[in-house]
Amino acid sequence: MTTEGAPTTYRALICDLDGVVYRGSSPVPYAVEALVGVRAQVHYATNNASRPPGEVAAHLRDLGLPCADSEVTTSSEAGAWLLSRGSAPPQRVLAVGGPGVALALERAGFTVVLPRDAQHTPAVDAVLQGYGRDVTAADLAEAAYAVQAGACWVATNTDSTLPTDRGVAPGGGSLVSAVAGAVGRGPDAVAGKPHPTIYELALERLSLTAGEVLAIGDRLETDIEGALATGMASLFVLTGVDSLEDVLRAEPRMRPTYIRADLADLATQLTHEALDGPLTGVVRRAWGQLDDARAAGASSAQFETALTQAIEAARRVLDGDTAR
Ligand SMILES: [Mg+2]
Repeated sequence: MTTEGAPTTYRALICDLDGVVYRGSSPVPYAVEALVGVRAQVHYATNNASRPPGEVAAHLRDLGLPCADSEVTTSSEAGAWLLSRGSAPPQRVLAVGGPGVALALERAGFTVVLPRDAQHTPAVDAVLQGYGRDVTAADLAEAAYAVQAGACWVATNTDSTLPTDRGVAPGGGSLVSAVAGAVGRGPDAVAGKPHPTIYELALERLSLTAGEVLAIGDRLETDIEGALATGMASLFVLTGVDSLEDVLRAEPRMRPTYIRADLADLATQLTHEALDGPLTGVVRRAWGQLDDARAAGASSAQFETALTQAIEAARRVLDGDTAR
């Protein structure tokens, strides 16, 4: 996103959770203090479909963040919202995933069918599939049968991996792929980041427009690409999945507006001037140089040399930034 036309002050943040606020059960350094101190509404949007918003909000309150249940938007809620907005909304929906999936459907007014009951109840009109650690092959089979029988299939998100303390586990997207492998196609729609639905639902809850809000995230291909697709400015932090090299290599569709090492020293007033620090400047210049090199037909060896120089320059700025 260009910063032209950016508002003087962003009125709210839509903040990702894992890799921004916490990593597993531990808080990310500086995040809680920054989010408590900021003079803007703070809303949280997570692709994690398995936990209901109340459980996520309770976790945030335990970390010291003031957070109402209504200030959390999950990809399960976005999926239920997506289903309710069609021209002919479904009535009976199969909930495949953790407790957050069924709860979101119930709250949106759908008749929820659980996989174990699907065989002995009337056919469903739609399937909402999200991650759940207890999802079984039999649950995935019910999703596949419903889709083959003509049900509309919405996935909460397509993140293929789930980082855990013990290694990388298959994420919700891997479970979606299992169903896709059986039915020979992908879902009809996806609600979570990088698709705009989850951000659009969060904006509706904030009663704000995309231009008034700043998204914060640690993943370029979900948080940042989704913010751009929704028309929001974004702040990328280096406390989670993606690295400085990743952001320098990022294609235009996933380039953040601002880049910071972490949320330390985040201004209380979220103005463009306060957010636009030296790290953002050096990365923005490097994108311009790398784009020019590509447009001029640079060989891949020349491109990699330019990239290595850009990484070194950005790292020098980053080391200066974090020398506190
Ligand atoms: Mg994250």
